[in-house]
Amino acid sequence: MNENQDAEAVEEVTKAQEPKVIKFDELDPNFKYEIQAEPSGEFITRCYACGTCTASCPVRSIEETFNPRRIIHMALLGMKKEVLSSEFVWLCSTCYACFERCPQDVRITEMMNALKNLAVKNGYIHPAFTAQIDLIQGHGRLYEADSFVNKKRAKIRLPELTESPDPIKAIFKATGLYEYSTEAKESKELPQSGNTEGGSNE
Ligand code: SF4
Ligand code: SF4
Repeated sequence: MNENQDAEAVEEVTKAQEPKVIKFDELDPNFKYEIQAEPSGEFITRCYACGTCTASCPVRSIEETFNPRRIIHMALLGMKKEVLSSEFVWLCSTCYACFERCPQDVRITEMMNALKNLAVKNGYIHPAFTAQIDLIQGHGRLYEADSFVNKKRAKIRLPELTESPDPIKAIFKATGLYEYSTEAKESKELPQSGNTEGGSNE
């Protein structure tokens, strides 16, 4: 590392450690009610910030920035944009360790799903989930059923897998999930047929 890189690294760490200022006029006092209106979000106000969830969380043990107690606290404060636009809500592995140990029965694992639903409704979706939508829509499953997979299946006498994405796409279209696929986004970006430059035939 040269001197410039050292200085940049120090600046980055210093910035990360700077206390964040919470501006009251940017808080949304109704955010907790929005969460409560979502399926499985209704118990969020039971939290008394004991930290058992954070201490139990396996994701937290490998990723220090992930902190379920902090996410809940931010949500209760009304930090809507910060919560919904952050990567936090997408990092939960749904292991249910916190769900089982929370003394207040906040049901955090399922509340995380409520936060994910709200994030998507507000236009925030993690690229990893877009990738999963594309894979399932394109192959009918989360991975391609190629000849390698089928050879391995044949060795243990399992039937050949065939791809049948059409019914999946129909389900995605019926449920609205299709709108979040790359295909749908790209089709919206294409110029509509009959649309001539300048928009006039005069
Ligand atoms: S374990 Fe339950 S009560 Fe304790 S901080 Fe987590 S959500 Fe709140
Ligand atoms: S369910 Fe999510 S938040 Fe709870 S312990 Fe597991 S990974 Fe952590």
